[in-house]
Amino acid sequence: MKKELFKKIPAVNDLLESNEAKKIIKTYNHDLVLKAIRNILGKKRDFISKAKISDLKNKELDLSISTLTDEISEYLHKYLKPNLEAVINATGTIVHTNLGRSLLSKEAVQSIKEVAENYSTLEIDKETGQRGSRYNNVRELLIALSLAEDGMVVNNNAAAVLLILDTFAKNKEVILSRGEMVEVGGSFRIPEVMEKSGAKLIEVGATNKVYLDDYEKNITENTSLLLKVHTSNYRIMGFTAEVKLEKLVKLGKKYNLPVVEDLGSGIIRDLSDLGLLDEPTVADKIKQGADLVSFSGDKLLGGPQAGIIVGHKEFIDKLKKNPLTRALRVDKFTLSALEATLKAYIKKEDREVIPTLKMLSEDIEIIKTRAEELKEKIYNIDKKKVMIKVEKDFSKTGGGAFPVQSIPTYVTKVKIKDRTLHDLSHQLRMNNPPIFTRLQDNYMLFDLRTVKENQLDLIVDAFQKVLKGRRK
Ligand SMILES: *Cc1c(COP(=O)(O)O)cnc(C)c1O
Repeated sequence: MKKELFKKIPAVNDLLESNEAKKIIKTYNHDLVLKAIRNILGKKRDFISKAKISDLKNKELDLSISTLTDEISEYLHKYLKPNLEAVINATGTIVHTNLGRSLLSKEAVQSIKEVAENYSTLEIDKETGQRGSRYNNVRELLIALSLAEDGMVVNNNAAAVLLILDTFAKNKEVILSRGEMVEVGGSFRIPEVMEKSGAKLIEVGATNKVYLDDYEKNITENTSLLLKVHTSNYRIMGFTAEVKLEKLVKLGKKYNLPVVEDLGSGIIRDLSDLGLLDEPTVADKIKQGADLVSFSGDKLLGGPQAGIIVGHKEFIDKLKKNPLTRALRVDKFTLSALEATLKAYIKKEDREVIPTLKMLSEDIEIIKTRAEELKEKIYNIDKKKVMIKVEKDFSKTGGGAFPVQSIPTYVTKVKIKDRTLHDLSHQLRMNNPPIFTRLQDNYMLFDLRTVKENQLDLIVDAFQKVLKGRRK
């Protein structure tokens, strides 16, 4: 029985010779079609060898060329669907690293488009027609916003730290407090970046306490710089002591050592009006005397992925001369989006146009309205199966900032009768568009702070599918 079925499976060449397949080959890459054919035929063989004889008898297995080519077309269609697709973020974490961190402003998206479709002034000086520097496109803006003497941009903040250490600390020692041995998102660890750059880490103090004297007594003729890392994704609380930047700057002056701070999530304009207190701005750090400050472009700044370095001109000049800068350089899309984002700060419309700040500052009553609307719409799909309510909860800034500060929000909490949360969340993730939620206290939570008004109906559609779907 099985033997006969195996025999019925057409050979790859027979399929390739069929008229249907010839049509497909005209539109798709030949090797890909071949791969699709092998995949589909392989599945058939697999199915036959695993199936029970009784099953094979009951249902006729369709191995006709036309059915197989249909399946091949479907395979190719799926293959060409974007892997990196837009999703709905209902987690309430605004700068969500796994979902792409910051969204760009309309202005930033528009400038990327302009620069993508046209030639641009990326590295040319209009005035003289001579070659220019790509950094000049944002340099003045960085200076204006940070009050530093100079600034530059590399691929991300990890690259910025690497470049700084490689330039100033290669084969030398760097002093860092034990309390600031940061790991960011599992992939960026200060000690490991330091090792890559050839710098030797000198850890000083205890995890919870470090004094100026701990730094001073570890300074040798091999010391290259004093490093501070902003512990933006955790806080050490309770019995603590930290050396303030100003004091470290004084010590640096005394021994002629640059003081560098990795600020992580760079804040350009103070966020205390949003209830987010005690996070220093980049300009604060410059005022306090840091020689170089580095931070991310796509965390709370709300721009594209980038590593921004500001500080003293002589140091920035040295960084620019390091050949590594060429390897870590940003592209024109980053620069154009960053320029548009920084200009929103200059115009003081950052809270209105930069999505990250807009979400962060949205009025809680407006969020509540969306939460109520979502509740009504989902409840009305099937009042017997849907258990749903709106409650106060907390959003998170994410991106390793304000770890201990939660932002009040409203969430829609859902449970579906006879459905596990595990199944439900899987189905929503596999929806088109995929929806990511928060599971908490035996409920599925939709935090409406990170969900736009025009996404509500897409969520409702997904629930419609869930509730009308199979499974009794
Ligand atoms: C996020 C972060 C980094 C890494 O920044 P990327 O832009 O993700 O490379 C480095 N240092 C600190 C303190 C951070 O918070």
